[in-house]
Amino acid sequence: MSGTYRIAQPVDLSCDVLVVGSGAGGAAVAATLTRAGLDVLMVEEGPYVPAERAPAQLTTAFRRLWRGGGLTAALGAPPVAYAEGRCVGGTTEINSAIFQQTPPEVLQAWARQYGIADFGPEALRPYYARAAQAVHASPPSEPVGAATERLRAGGEALGWRVTALERGHRNCVGTNMCAHGCPTGGKQSMSATLIPAALAKGLRLIAECRVERLVFRRRRVATVLGSARDGHGMRHPVRIRPRQVFLCAGAIHTPALLRAHGWRRNIGTALRLHPTIKAAAIFPDTIDAHAFAVPQVAITEFMPDVRLGGSLFSPSTFGMFLAEDWGTRAALMPAWRNAGLYYAMVRGQGRGSVRPLPGRGTEPLVRYRLAPVDWQGLALGLERVGQALFAAGATRVVPSIGGHPGWNDPARCDEFSAGGLPVGRSNLMTIHLAGSAPPGEVEALCATDSFGRLRGLENLIVADASQIPEAPGVNPQATVMALAFRAAEAYLAQPERARRQRALAEIDRR
Ligand SMILES: Cc1cc2nc3c(=O)[nH]c(=O)nc-3n(C[C@H](O)[C@H](O)[C@H](O)COP(=O)(O)OP(=O)(O)OC[C@H]3O[C@@H](n4cnc5c(N)ncnc54)[C@H](O)[C@@H]3O)c2cc1C
Repeated sequence: MSGTYRIAQPVDLSCDVLVVGSGAGGAAVAATLTRAGLDVLMVEEGPYVPAERAPAQLTTAFRRLWRGGGLTAALGAPPVAYAEGRCVGGTTEINSAIFQQTPPEVLQAWARQYGIADFGPEALRPYYARAAQAVHASPPSEPVGAATERLRAGGEALGWRVTALERGHRNCVGTNMCAHGCPTGGKQSMSATLIPAALAKGLRLIAECRVERLVFRRRRVATVLGSARDGHGMRHPVRIRPRQVFLCAGAIHTPALLRAHGWRRNIGTALRLHPTIKAAAIFPDTIDAHAFAVPQVAITEFMPDVRLGGSLFSPSTFGMFLAEDWGTRAALMPAWRNAGLYYAMVRGQGRGSVRPLPGRGTEPLVRYRLAPVDWQGLALGLERVGQALFAAGATRVVPSIGGHPGWNDPARCDEFSAGGLPVGRSNLMTIHLAGSAPPGEVEALCATDSFGRLRGLENLIVADASQIPEAPGVNPQATVMALAFRAAEAYLAQPERARRQRALAEIDRR
């Protein structure tokens, strides 16, 4: 991408707006502000990996594109493994691009509870529309593959609501490599959509540049300090003097960075997520789940609190699932062409925290504790996903519980309905993080005002998943983008910005 550049020596830069982080939030902000004629500089900790260099192996993708090589966890009993991208385009480069809006009643409840101005299904409609257009949100391309069809058939056989999932894709050929950084560019991630659009409008983007320190003067961020890697792996100091900062480092790193600088009020205190438990299904026939994109339907009968769906499948992801308990599950590996991976996900009511790791600068220490109702939801969800898979013809369903031999009979799926899941043996994960810097006017709950402006600082706006007040119960990228478009527009609407924008438009016209 032209406009991306590497630093080869120490640099001292200035800009109208600095955007920290290039994921769903950062890209939406950069596209909006460059279109308005502002001088925008974006810095991204991770590398730029073009589609043609997308790693063929998932393990290489973990190293190149995933934070922490894919090994990140919220500590707790049990720990919850979480995942984030760390590359140009952020987590959108490794996600499945499922596009969903937060249900209207959930948005309305947040507007009331947090006192968020201009918020709710009507107020967000134009921003969701812009997000949908940016990523070309559209129905799945056919054929969707047997892993999808089985989930649909199982849900429908039980009379449950099954919903097709829209995805952000264009000419997706179903390489099933969404987690590798899409090798064809069919997935409409930020590096395929809004980032090139912003670069065409003058965005400067420095990849492999990590922000490490903010320097404040008179209630403003005066200087941002970081370091960037050159083509030989050498790091050089980067000093940036922005007029305005948009912090879009994601639901973990935004609060970690702010807290490391003493900004604590409602920051990193109520991390929300979707606790998720997986289950593998073995079918009597070959389904070749690896040959198609991620399952493109979800069982939505039990939403908003519990959703059942399918996970990315490849021999390696199946191998990782088995390796959680190789002693019990190894014998299933030869059946990988007959297998699919599915999940039950709950809209977590528990809370977590993000703190800077003592002595490690802005590196985060993440904790999470499930609420009792989350455990009930997971037990119910696991039971229902097992029943659906048997109804679809599975002969064996193996829940992600250490030492569990798997079920051969649907009648066994309610095993945990009375006593709950075994806490110490349940392997939980999440790919959806939120709530670590919520917006709104109820100061006792919120970190920023209704439009992401951090209270107490004049020139810092948060625009990423940390602004989604709570776990939405659906895939969050669309909401991250909608809120980021909205925050960027609110910033542009400030009187002095509007005047400058008009002047720039006038110059364009001449
Ligand atoms: C495997 C997986 C699958 C998913 N599937 C879906 C899906 O199908 N649909 C959906 O809606 N959501 C999905 N999600 C979630 C979705 O991708 C995220 O909610 C969304 O991308 C979050 O956007 P963000 O802008 O908050 O953060 P990110 O997209 O994570 O971007 C933050 C960026 O900031 C950078 N950064 C952090 N700290 C610094 C620093 N100090 N200096 C410079 N840069 C920094 C990071 O490297 C990162 O690139 C998935 C997530 C995962 C992990």
